[in-house]
Formats: sequence, C-alpha cells, structure tokens
Amino acid sequence: MADDYVRATCHACEGEGCSYCDRRGWIEVRPPATACPRCEGECCIYCGYTGWAGLRPKYDDETGTAGSCHAP
Ligand SMILES: [Zn+2]
Ligand SMILES: [Zn+2]
Repeated sequence: MADDYVRATCHACEGEGCSYCDRRGWIEVRPPATACPRCEGECCIYCGYTGWAGLRPKYDDETGTAGSCHAP
C-alpha cells in the first residue's frame, strides 16, 4: 500500500537544493509534516539533515534494503 506524502522545504538549504534533498529543495514526509523532534528543524543525523520527521524512504520499493551501501 502506498502512503501519501507531502512536500516539505528542506531545512538544510531552505529550498535552494542540496545533496540531502537531491537538489530539489524539498523532501517528502508523511503528513502532517512534523519537524524533527530531535533537532526541532535545526537538522541532525536523525532527520537526514532535512529538519523533518517521517521522511519518505529513498528506496521505498525495495522494502528492507534501505541503509544498504550496495549499488544496484
Ligand atoms: Zn536541501
Ligand atoms: Zn533532526
């Protein structure tokens, strides 16, 4: 089942685009968009330096492989 996600402006670059948001300036998070409880939007390792909680996994069609360093 596909979850719906909402766009949130990347806090690391404030929408200008950086490596944390794939140069888009925004990332997808689970609604309602919630600031990272660890850093409150200041960006930390727990939120992937985007400042948001509930980030959409980068490889959500490969369940269980997130975090793997192996290239396809
Ligand atoms: Zn960014
Ligand atoms: Zn954080």
